[in-house]
Amino acid sequence: MSNAIFRVPIAVNEPIKGYAPGSAERKSLLNKYQEMYNQAAIDVPMYIGGKEIRTTNKKPMTSPHDHQKVLGHYNVGDATHVQDAIDAALAAKDAWANLPWEERAAVFLKAADLLAGPFRDRMNAATMLAQSKNVYQTEIDAACELIDFFRFNVQYMTQIYSEQPESLPGMWNRLEYRALEGFVFALSPFNFTSIAANLSAAPMMMGNVVVWKPAESQIYSAQVIMDLFKAAGVPDGVINMVTVSGQTAGEVIFKNKHFAGIHFTGSTGVFRQLWRNIADNLENYRSYPRIVGETGGKDFIMVHKSADAAEVATSMARGAFEFQGQKCSAASRAYIPSNLWPEVKRIFVEQVNSFKIGSPEDPSNFVNAVIDSKAFDKISGYIDYCKAQPDAEVITGGNYDKSKGYFIEPTTVVTTNPKFRTMCEEIFGPVLTVYVYDENKFEETLTLLDETSEYALTGSIMSNDRYAINVATKMLRNSAGNFYINDKPTGAVVGQQPFGGARGSGTNDKAGSSMNMLRWVSARTIKETFVPPVDYRYPFLG
Ligand code: NAD
Repeated sequence: MSNAIFRVPIAVNEPIKGYAPGSAERKSLLNKYQEMYNQAAIDVPMYIGGKEIRTTNKKPMTSPHDHQKVLGHYNVGDATHVQDAIDAALAAKDAWANLPWEERAAVFLKAADLLAGPFRDRMNAATMLAQSKNVYQTEIDAACELIDFFRFNVQYMTQIYSEQPESLPGMWNRLEYRALEGFVFALSPFNFTSIAANLSAAPMMMGNVVVWKPAESQIYSAQVIMDLFKAAGVPDGVINMVTVSGQTAGEVIFKNKHFAGIHFTGSTGVFRQLWRNIADNLENYRSYPRIVGETGGKDFIMVHKSADAAEVATSMARGAFEFQGQKCSAASRAYIPSNLWPEVKRIFVEQVNSFKIGSPEDPSNFVNAVIDSKAFDKISGYIDYCKAQPDAEVITGGNYDKSKGYFIEPTTVVTTNPKFRTMCEEIFGPVLTVYVYDENKFEETLTLLDETSEYALTGSIMSNDRYAINVATKMLRNSAGNFYINDKPTGAVVGQQPFGGARGSGTNDKAGSSMNMLRWVSARTIKETFVPPVDYRYPFLG
């Protein structure tokens, strides 16, 4: 223990590199991409108690934009590996939880600096290869957002620890923020490398030990995350990565008495199933587990008749189609007033038709491939459905081809039915549905919007009329956890727009804020009386 109350560095957002033609960072990243693409196939182990575990059951890892190219294999584990991971986590628990907080802070501040420096190209290139992100989408996720998670969460940790109660004369009241009693299960989605890492890092930072199961299609970049944690000094057993099916992990973990919490990001259906499984085992647990889940969305752009057509068209083009619409925040329904639609449509269609589609290896490609064959089939199924409906018209894209990679053209559907299937359901791909409303029915359309989907993640209002902005902000109060005014509904930044939604979109514990970090501690109140009484009689008894 040190005799000092340390202050951590003030967190600032990691600057986003530009990767302009001729820049040093562009050359360096593309070289790394080539090097990793051309290297011999790698073999990604499970990491249990600091040991690398391999099995005889190996599955290939391929690139979404080049699915015949095998980047490597991962080792498929079974229930015994999940049990081993739990045992390793629990064995590491006391030492990690009892380490002074400043040592934990140093580990994650170091992780941030390693990622900003020597790990940056490797993490970015791995994300380009595994998840088919272009250089910009990779940079804002795998580098900047993850660096920000590390630095800002260290700051939030100290803010939480500083929160202390009042004390009257003769006593001292203290709050101690204990790690949860048990282990945390981190269950991550494919689409953000930063989220995959933060689902483990946030609980670890607060002194917890973790069993992490990444999504299958993210394992290639998950290995870089494990290497980063190791290089930063996360001790053996504090994080254990198992590559098993979600069901296998769930079956073992949710029956374990020491299961203390789940940090989940993924789809709504899976989250609801997990919650049911946890509820079924409630009597077995030592404590009530923390259940933190950020899930699906049906994110909107709502446009008022006073908006600027070019601004609306650009929000739609970027908001719906960056990273192929595979962001939980991606705009997937737009409500456009009839007076603006002809001009919005003209600019929007021109923009979308100018997108280049292809491998992220060529940075001029705005759109890359969707994650895998299952996603490709699901999204193209929705497109075929739209093509066949009398109340829908496809005005951009509509074609798809998986001969080399899982490429789907950015597709825009205009419907006359505000409750059309693709206005309601999450597709999680490059499909935007537009409903053109009577420009004089603004408030009715806000009500309609609010009632159309079960989700409430992100959304935006575009307007140059302050009254209309105010009305929309009020009427859509519960329609989105992240609400934007005159912007696209994507691109939340740690420390600036804490992220998360309610209703079917999750528990809204706001990743990248102290609200999330608070879920990973269990406070103990300590009251100390300096001169205790020596007689039971109160004055009123006299
Ligand atoms: P997913 O729900 O299919 O998978 C998420 C994780 O759960 C994966 O690791 C998967 O293997 C695991 N899993 C699947 N079925 C399981 C089961 N029965 N038991 C235990 N684990 C199981 O999600 P995905 O396709 O990887 O990601 C896309 C989804 O994530 C979208 O719905 C998107 O909106 C959501 N998402 C939300 C946010 C947010 O912050 N709200 C952020 C990113 C992604």
